[in-house]
Amino acid sequence: MAVDNDYKGYRGEALTTLQKFSALIWSDIEVLTADGTYKGRVLPRSETADDKHIVIKLVSGYNIGIASSRVLDIKVTGRKEAHYKIPEKEFPYDPRKPRVKLLGTGGTIASRLDYRTGAVIPAFSPGELYGSVPELADICNLETEKLYGVFSENMGPEQWIGTAEAIGKEIEKGVQGIVIGHGTDTMHHTAAILSFMVQNSPVPIVMVGSQRSSDRPSSDAALNLMHSVKTAAESDIAEVLVCMFGPTSDDYGLLHRGTRVRKMHSSYRSTFRTIGDIPIAMVSREKITPLRQDYKRRRRDNNVIINTAFEEKVGIVYYYPNMKPDIIDSMIDNGYRGIVIAGTGLGHVNKPVYSALKRAKEKNVAVYMTVQTLWGYVQMYVYDTGRDMMELGVVPCANMLPEVAYMKLGWALGQSEDLEVVKKIMLTPVNGEITEREPSNGYLILQGGIPEVEEFISKYRK
Ligand code: ASP
Repeated sequence: MAVDNDYKGYRGEALTTLQKFSALIWSDIEVLTADGTYKGRVLPRSETADDKHIVIKLVSGYNIGIASSRVLDIKVTGRKEAHYKIPEKEFPYDPRKPRVKLLGTGGTIASRLDYRTGAVIPAFSPGELYGSVPELADICNLETEKLYGVFSENMGPEQWIGTAEAIGKEIEKGVQGIVIGHGTDTMHHTAAILSFMVQNSPVPIVMVGSQRSSDRPSSDAALNLMHSVKTAAESDIAEVLVCMFGPTSDDYGLLHRGTRVRKMHSSYRSTFRTIGDIPIAMVSREKITPLRQDYKRRRRDNNVIINTAFEEKVGIVYYYPNMKPDIIDSMIDNGYRGIVIAGTGLGHVNKPVYSALKRAKEKNVAVYMTVQTLWGYVQMYVYDTGRDMMELGVVPCANMLPEVAYMKLGWALGQSEDLEVVKKIMLTPVNGEITEREPSNGYLILQGGIPEVEEFISKYRK
């Protein structure tokens, strides 16, 4: 691919600086500044960018802007024009292979480096996918559809409902599995809401993302895609799952139940962890190995239940010491119908907040308690304060994760105005969001890489 020109997007002093040291876009350079030396590749800039900064992709994969006024010297060490555009190839059709549908919503997994701007942008087409991960064709006949192209912080009720409806349509059409490409940041929120909005699925619904975009050597995109497509095509686990790296190496992926999973690290590829339980299975390119047996099995019918009713006026309040009641009062005044509190310890907030909880009850606002510790149960009978809060109408959510309780409360309030009915829905698990007890070895799984976990996992690895 030829670049448009050698200085694409550069103007003014940034352009002058590059020219002075004979550096072009895509040049590998070492930039000397008063604060140190930076090694990387010059990226093009967008037409709207300022004229003061040179943007380079560091060897680590991160992009930084260096003010041209700070540049003392630039040494050009090489140049390799970027070939970031993924070649499109037609996905081959094999009548003996299962049909899998990949629904894209955006995120890093659907992104590539845009050679025009140097930014990571969402890009998604079946041909591009096959062009970049041809192994997918060994597993299934993959059809793709881009539902949205957003980073996952922008997912909301409209996209959750649209995704649930799209899943329903595909199941009715008879696909053997569904993969949802999604940004990792809020993948656990979407996994939770899909677990409630899409029930009784006869096929696997596998959410997948990547922590590093596919233009980076350490990208997890290809392997995660292979693992998730394999799970959708071949596994007998008919649940909403999250499929991402297990350990930090690319040894195997883990399949997490959609209601018990959480993103736990901002940058590791092994960021997703099952909380308060153990993952459902391990997946490698060769096989899928269940770690437990209590999952919903694949069926041959198309009888899925899609229920997308959702109340948007719900929020999470993360309790912090010295919180004032005004936070909750303002939610009540703004018409919120449900509040999930992530309390300290066994589920606590300070006394000053009680007045707002009392008001919430009077105004018919549903208030549910979860724990910030993530592991373990809300227990409001242990201290007087817990009992007092229950008298004020706060409902303990057992070991439901705060984000899951938030999604479920929106869904439950969508089903009924009657808070007793809502309570019944909240406390009746749909799929593992409340469990009777947490397994003792579940806690260790979170700590991935320590000897006990390796020993546990090795029992399943042949
Ligand atoms: N910010 C991105 C997102 O959640 C990160 C990712 O995809 O991993 O959409």
